[in-house]
Amino acid sequence: MDLEWNSVYAPKIRGHLNEIIEIGAVTLDEQFRELKYFSMLVRSRLGGGRLQTHVREMTSLTQQDLQVHGQPFDKAIARFTRWLGSGEHILCTWGDGDIRALLANTRYFTGARELTFFKNYVNLQAYFQHRFETSKAQQIGLSAAGEMLGLPSEGYHLHRALGDSRFTAEILRKLYRSEDFACFVKHCTPEFYAELEYKPRLLSDLNHPLVDQTKLYYVCRGCNRPARQLTAWRFASRGFQAVFRCEHCGQLVRANVAFKKLYRAVEIRRSAKVLEEEPPA
Ligand SMILES: [Zn+2]
Repeated sequence: MDLEWNSVYAPKIRGHLNEIIEIGAVTLDEQFRELKYFSMLVRSRLGGGRLQTHVREMTSLTQQDLQVHGQPFDKAIARFTRWLGSGEHILCTWGDGDIRALLANTRYFTGARELTFFKNYVNLQAYFQHRFETSKAQQIGLSAAGEMLGLPSEGYHLHRALGDSRFTAEILRKLYRSEDFACFVKHCTPEFYAELEYKPRLLSDLNHPLVDQTKLYYVCRGCNRPARQLTAWRFASRGFQAVFRCEHCGQLVRANVAFKKLYRAVEIRRSAKVLEEEPPA
């Protein structure tokens, strides 16, 4: 499945919502042959129906297209649910952005807390990145993934929901391995939704149990030796910071160590800024 969305201000949540403007999907059989497809425009209700410039340019959709041919969101989802049918299936999307948008739209427009039309989910981007062992810090886009797999994207009408769905299916065909695919299937339990909604945050309390004190150090980037700490660690906007001097090369830096609380883990990121002059103690 793939969705196109447009970010608009949504008064009810006093923030931005990625309002869905198109739903596309294909179903595949066990041999990954396409059985049927779904393609539907969704009439936008927020922001006066105005589309963001980059959305207009990427999709070539206009406000008129959506107003004339689009269905209201709840109707579109009802049709999609009927189309999907009640058989067992695994819903796949590229990255979890679409599924987050789907959940946010469902809650905003229908009040339902969960997506009832599917029970199993795979983020194919995560599966791809596992297979290619690419860094989790950088997300690989659909066309880049196609290129890495040697799949030509010509004739696919990318950046439209059905075209992206078909190309995603093509990638799945090439990528699928029975031995590890099952590890990426998530069951849509309450925990699945909790994880989907979780917003990662920086830990700002130095004494938080998840702040691993042994990770608070700085190694000189030039000399690769531990530097001498001159000031105590304290939280600034981007993480915990302290000033260090490398006794080998004399460089003075402000080191930054950030602890980002993810749903299941804590991610640690390091950076350092070389200071021109010694700051006041
Ligand atoms: Zn040094």
